[in-house]
Amino acid sequence: MLFNELGLSAEILRAVGEQGYDTPTPIQAQAIPHVLAGRDLEGLAQTGTGKTAAFVLPILHRLINTPVNSAQSKIAPRVLVLVPTRELAAQVLESVKVYGKHTGLKSLAVFGGVSIVPQVGALRRGIDILVATPGRLLDHLGNRNVDLGKIQTLVLDEADRMFDMGFINDIRKIIAKCPKDRQTLLFSATFAPEVRDLAHAVLRNPALVEVARRNAPAEMVAQSVIRCDQDKKKDLLLHLFSQHGWHQTLIFCRTKHGADALAKKLEQSGVKTAALHGNKTQGARTRALADFKSGRLAALVATDIAARGIDIDSLPRVVNFELPHVPEDYIHRIGRTGRAGSSGEALSFVSLDERIQLRDIERLLKRELDSTVMPGFEPMQTRPTPKVATPVRRSAPSRSGSGKPGAGKPGTTSPAGRNYGPRAGHSPRSGGGKPAGSSSYVGQRQR
Ligand code: AMP
Repeated sequence: MLFNELGLSAEILRAVGEQGYDTPTPIQAQAIPHVLAGRDLEGLAQTGTGKTAAFVLPILHRLINTPVNSAQSKIAPRVLVLVPTRELAAQVLESVKVYGKHTGLKSLAVFGGVSIVPQVGALRRGIDILVATPGRLLDHLGNRNVDLGKIQTLVLDEADRMFDMGFINDIRKIIAKCPKDRQTLLFSATFAPEVRDLAHAVLRNPALVEVARRNAPAEMVAQSVIRCDQDKKKDLLLHLFSQHGWHQTLIFCRTKHGADALAKKLEQSGVKTAALHGNKTQGARTRALADFKSGRLAALVATDIAARGIDIDSLPRVVNFELPHVPEDYIHRIGRTGRAGSSGEALSFVSLDERIQLRDIERLLKRELDSTVMPGFEPMQTRPTPKVATPVRRSAPSRSGSGKPGAGKPGTTSPAGRNYGPRAGHSPRSGGGKPAGSSSYVGQRQR
């Protein structure tokens, strides 16, 4: 199927063509006809599938083909897209601007962390499409800067993340201000029970569109684990940067503080780096992303929440400097690489204290990850560090057996984690799901 078979207006097809796209992605091919027909939609799709254009293109089409009521208040947008993060808000707005370039429609993104004043001015001048994070939109609603009474289409993007980030009550308040006879589109990477409940409450007879989930990570991502003590990880990372001349490497840390400290160390060692997390100003975050995308930065050190929605095509490498507490975040993290047919690499530095997280990730993946030790950085720690309170971003849903030491695969951990070490007979493995020749570390594997 081609874009010009979908019935979209010429102005929109022109902009799509200028982006070099002629074939819709599966989510676009499935969703666009339903949205054009005015139906509600429940879309199970992640970032990287083309889901933004799947709702933006038909929304633009409907807007330019629906006359504006001349009595309509200027501060009443016709479309509202609710997103969980400011990065995603900026990216959705960019798509609206790119695809809506020849339509004359006005769009704006409102989110926190930046001055509210220019947003108020822009809202008063009149907007067709408003992209917003829930907190800042509620501020504007409270100040009567915007009226949602004329919303024709409401989009809830990354609904699962809205729950994770505790936005659900804000969302309910916002939805209550939209007309009942609107069109509603809900996108989520997972249909957890709470997302299903929300979908049930806000959608009317929705079309269900589902594209291949990334619960199995992209085929093209070569995943491996390097076992290393926590206090050696920075040196190991620097060693790999200098040995392999890495560029465009996205590095995940669990905490903002950890991300800052690591970024500083890399920068001091001559690796062009920025940190991306919630304490950075919006300007700094936007700049860091732009510099990383353009290749000016070799490394971007991010926390999970800050990295949500980052859309960078063909990222060559993701490094998990620390494993996430929530195993699904591992899938989100490594989903940044190996996109659109290009191969990518996901390396996880795993210390003895992270064995439980590794086990939970491997259970989710339903396979063991290839595990190596880097000469010169062999793990020396033999006992887990006594437990101190570690910040947990959000509670993971309880999984059977999760957290019970010793419940993992044989050879991974013992009850005290004491046989954690080179996994005899596990490496190199055949049939481990890695694309052939996908790792540059094969020569250094433990034998
Ligand atoms: P998204 O899932 O919306 O974050 O989109 C992921 C990436 O795919 C973005 O960089 C889009 O510009 C790109 N994209 C969207 N639609 C198409 C298409 N039909 N063909 C090729 N690339 C696309």
